Amino acid sequence: MRLTEQQKQQVRSQLEGSPGHCQVCGSQEWIIIDEMWALKPFFGPEPTQPVSHPLVAFFCAHCHQVILLSAIGLGLVAVPDKDA
Ligand SMILES: [Zn+2]
Repeated sequence: MRLTEQQKQQVRSQLEGSPGHCQVCGSQEWIIIDEMWALKPFFGPEPTQPVSHPLVAFFCAHCHQVILLSAIGLGLVAVPDKDA
């Protein structure tokens, strides 16, 4: 899923412009990757449940380290209803 400009602005606003210092090089210049990503749990060699956790990815403009933040935690995606 592609992030809209409004969603990217919401993320920047929540993080006050930056997710902080890069742990590798110390830079604070991060670039938001346009697509939302998903982290899938491992259920064993034959996965049976199609669940995933949505993520927003940033990469450092200097050393290219990638960090992932929860799109649910950032308020971009609603918490899934477990009863649905
Ligand atoms: Zn860096």
